[in-house]
Amino acid sequence: MKNFDLIVIGSGPGGYVAAIRAAQLGMKVACVDKRKELGGTCLNVGCIPSKALLHATELYWTMKHAGGYGIQCQATYSLPEMRKQKDKIISSFNTGIAQLFAKHQITFFPGLAKFLSPTTVQVAGEPLTAKNFILATGSEPTALPFLPFDEQRILSSTGALALSQIPSKLLIIGAGVIGVELGSVYSRLGSQVEFVEFQDRICPTLDPALSQELQKILTLQGMTFHLSSKVLGADITSQQIVLRLENQQLAGDAVLISVGRRPCTQGLGLEALGIQLTPQGFISIDSRFRTSVPHIYAIGDLVDGPMLAHKASEEGIAVAEILAGQNPVVNYLAIPNVIYTSPEVAAVGLTEADAKALGLNTKTGTFPFKINSRAQCTGETEGFVKLIANSANDRLLGMHIIGAHASELIAIGAVALQNQLTVLDLAHAPYAHPTLSEALKEAALALHGRAIHR
Ligand SMILES: Cc1cc2nc3c(=O)[nH]c(=O)nc-3n(C[C@H](O)[C@H](O)[C@H](O)COP(=O)(O)OP(=O)(O)OC[C@H]3O[C@@H](n4cnc5c(N)ncnc54)[C@H](O)[C@@H]3O)c2cc1C
Repeated sequence: MKNFDLIVIGSGPGGYVAAIRAAQLGMKVACVDKRKELGGTCLNVGCIPSKALLHATELYWTMKHAGGYGIQCQATYSLPEMRKQKDKIISSFNTGIAQLFAKHQITFFPGLAKFLSPTTVQVAGEPLTAKNFILATGSEPTALPFLPFDEQRILSSTGALALSQIPSKLLIIGAGVIGVELGSVYSRLGSQVEFVEFQDRICPTLDPALSQELQKILTLQGMTFHLSSKVLGADITSQQIVLRLENQQLAGDAVLISVGRRPCTQGLGLEALGIQLTPQGFISIDSRFRTSVPHIYAIGDLVDGPMLAHKASEEGIAVAEILAGQNPVVNYLAIPNVIYTSPEVAAVGLTEADAKALGLNTKTGTFPFKINSRAQCTGETEGFVKLIANSANDRLLGMHIIGAHASELIAIGAVALQNQLTVLDLAHAPYAHPTLSEALKEAALALHGRAIHR
């Protein structure tokens, strides 16, 4: 029987990163995944393919709208070529992770893992034993009972990343992060995109000011939103899919269902081990990531918290270090989240509502990109920066950005929160000119009533 110090189940950004960190710390590690390719949802059907398609379609969109820069071009696109490029990126990272596993002598077992006992899992008929286990089996798209996925016309995000034809009208149920990103891809390629959202605003976890601004911009890009609307049922014919809402019907030739994701706990044999779940179906863990069976840990999308690749990786590193006797801390307040629309949206820390709920008094500072010189040069003047500080001590509580390259700018907020910096610390740092980051400095100065350019 093959025996390891640690078996990691799932090779997504939680699992493969945990496996590498554990091997760095001297453990004999195996990793199991039911996919034969490494990298999990994030690499194969999530973050990376969506960002590859977003980039390709944004290039196409920019070329079509380059007249303002004095450039005239006739842009056309080939969907098969775009998909080929996306698949090339995925495959190069699949290989890259395999090389990292080889470098760290991590053994990979492709196949479904099922616990036979608290110390043994079976993979492809072979029993493997370990002292410790990390469950990192991630999540999968939630379906609607009356609209089962066929991945041809009734799509999950996975099907929407692999379409071979552009729907002339794409209906999207759920205007959250995945919905607005994939909606942007198909809208840029010519689909008429229409969203149905149960909540009264899009991307409801965002600060309301950003959510409103994003909706305004996406509407200008041609997308349509039905807010506070619930899909009650659907009629599917060979020609079209008709969604029944309370007061109207919407017809399209494809539907993307992006109403959330649910943790993958099925088939692992967890019930027999007595591993407990939360009422929402996530694996229940303590503050050290231990499940109700103490040598079995759980991380990533499988446990409560934001479903983000880097959150899963931070947790994976933490568990490996705990197993090595260290005392790591994951600072959830400093974990940024990004929406890769055009412009991008990025946030880290608390919203004003979060801060209020914690009984904190806050001060805010904002600065629009339309008066930032770099944004003027590149024609990317949409959006703004909003900073939230604790008025008692000026500590930064939250940074919220809608604007070009927000995904990169937000790293400054994450570092500031991680190091408990004040807004004046942000304001007093020098920023290169002309850069978008100067808008952060100005928002920090604005919070203290002393913005220079406003
Ligand atoms: C379209 C889309 C876009 C996204 N974009 C972003 C983004 O830009 N940024 C971001 O931070 N997050 C993004 N996410 C979310 C991100 O992909 C997840 O948060 C992340 O992948 C979670 O990592 P994980 O390691 O917990 O699990 P996963 O990445 O889901 O990996 C779990 C792995 O476990 C395997 N597995 C499951 N059950 C078993 C079993 N019984 N035996 C063996 N193997 C098993 C699965 O095959 C899978 O490979 C996106 C998600 C989607 C769907």
